Amino acid sequence: MGVKCPSCGFISNPCPSYICNKCGASGLEVIYDYGAIRNHLSNNSLTETHSMWRYNSLLPLNEQPKVGSQVGFTPLLEANNLSREFGLNKIFIKDDSVNHPTLSYKDRAVAVAVNKALEFGFDILGCVSTGNVSNSVSSFAATLNKPCFVVVPGGTENGKVIGSLIFGAKVIKVRGNYDTANMLCKELAKKYPIAFANINLRSYYSEGAKTAIYEIVEQLGWRLPQNLVLPLAGGTLLIKAVKAIRELVEIGLVKNPTKIRIYGAQATGSSPIALAFELGQDQITPVQPNTIAKSLAIGNPGDGIAALQAIKSTNGYIGSVTDEEIIEGIGLLASKEGVFAEASGGATVGLTKKLAKSGVIPRDEEVVVMVSGNGFKTPDPVANCVYNAHEVDGDLTSLSRAFGLD
Ligand SMILES: *Cc1c(COP(=O)(O)O)cnc(C)c1O
Ligand SMILES: [Zn+2]
Repeated sequence: MGVKCPSCGFISNPCPSYICNKCGASGLEVIYDYGAIRNHLSNNSLTETHSMWRYNSLLPLNEQPKVGSQVGFTPLLEANNLSREFGLNKIFIKDDSVNHPTLSYKDRAVAVAVNKALEFGFDILGCVSTGNVSNSVSSFAATLNKPCFVVVPGGTENGKVIGSLIFGAKVIKVRGNYDTANMLCKELAKKYPIAFANINLRSYYSEGAKTAIYEIVEQLGWRLPQNLVLPLAGGTLLIKAVKAIRELVEIGLVKNPTKIRIYGAQATGSSPIALAFELGQDQITPVQPNTIAKSLAIGNPGDGIAALQAIKSTNGYIGSVTDEEIIEGIGLLASKEGVFAEASGGATVGLTKKLAKSGVIPRDEEVVVMVSGNGFKTPDPVANCVYNAHEVDGDLTSLSRAFGLD
């Protein structure tokens, strides 16, 4: 296992940096000896653990994880009501809204970053975050009894800020958007010995995202879904989905790879990658995010160009959904399937609806829709879409009448 520069190709031992120390390009990518992994797996089955560490041989840790034994192994739900609603053959929901410990897909990425940080000997953890990464790093820091420095944009939802503070993290809101916070943290990471999960530890962080895809493929009986709809902000999940699929084929866990198309869902108010895709451009023009989907509000996506290339390699599609469509998506997922997603789940459901309607996803095909975060953290966007609960006097007649039972 090593890290490889995507620009000059220089390979080095794993190091706590995302930047090539030969040419200065960013985006060091973890590489593995797939031949050895293939041999190892043919002699031993995957570990029996009911967590993401089942796939530890495809993750960049040298040792067994010291924290995060509970992460992953989330349900793949058959969404029959939603399938009927959208007129599709079958929809599955990959439900990372119930991932542990902090109810988003980010627990997977952060678990790998934090364990790698321990291997590198860091004593202070940190991150820049739109909310979910910070919940996750803060939780693991509490378990490890280590200090944790969190930087979030000013507009971050209270539920997510409190959801980091409660673990004892030091949370700072920076006036400005995610991209400003990110730029500042990159400078901090250069100056101080802090393991920023998604900055200097980013190569390892992003590897953790692969486990969501390994699980989907295993839950389908080691076959690829025909269509996969993922949320798309920084681009981590999407590019790691493509890597995960390539790996499963390469090491022989997927024996007869069938055609898969991957779709990236952006929020229209923060859709620089969708825009570049639509215009057929190879470059991404940063935007000022303005959307209720705060976890998708990244105007200058770090892995944007790679995401664009990854989508093209699968013949996929990048689309965007408006805030109204996101809210509708949250409501449909909740009322049809009993799953309360945060806005990014509304985005993937909303995009699935559009793609089904326009025939981009053929009606006789199956779709796996990623739900990456939990709506109970951030109920505000849908507060106006539900009735005010009636209040009645505490007697049986009033209660029966309020339900229309009289
Ligand atoms: C971070 C996040 C995303 C966006 O994922 P990227 O890998 O940055 O593209 C989507 N949904 C939720 C809930 C997130 O926390
Ligand atoms: Zn380089």
